[in-house]
Amino acid sequence: MRKCTKCKKIKDLDSFHLKVDGKLGKKSHCKACVKAYDKKRSVKKSLYDSKRYIENKDSIKKQNKNYYENNKEKYRNYEVQRSRLLDSKISRMYKKDNEMIYKKCRELNIENEEYHVDHIIPIKNEIICGLHVPWNLQIIKKEDNLKKSNKLLTEEELEGILNHGQAEK
Ligand SMILES: [Zn+2]
Repeated sequence: MRKCTKCKKIKDLDSFHLKVDGKLGKKSHCKACVKAYDKKRSVKKSLYDSKRYIENKDSIKKQNKNYYENNKEKYRNYEVQRSRLLDSKISRMYKKDNEMIYKKCRELNIENEEYHVDHIIPIKNEIICGLHVPWNLQIIKKEDNLKKSNKLLTEEELEGILNHGQAEK
């Protein structure tokens, strides 16, 4: 048993978080007090943040802009890399076919912006890099794209796409 130095209640040791160098290896505030403190602090912080944002909207915006200005290189590299991937030799060979897919997608979107063209294998991914070519493009509903990020391709799908690329070279 141990007395919480905050609420002064005597509680069993399970009610205290571990602290290696603490008395009896535990923190001096009980779990409930720690939790209450964390909650209070996070509410306070979000109030502070929104208040600060309202009061300093302009300077915060300026700060963000400055960050962009100072890290332009980083942003630009990303853009360059992406456009390079979108405009590779092989994708230029299939430019017309690619454009057909985009055209078809635009036709589907006449009534509302429901569909978009998706790279089956993302053109920029840590593990694999897809191509901007017709067999790596699909028209999907935007909402499905959100689901997709959690889904991996089956081995069959992956092989189909990779083999097609090989055969075309
Ligand atoms: Zn307590």
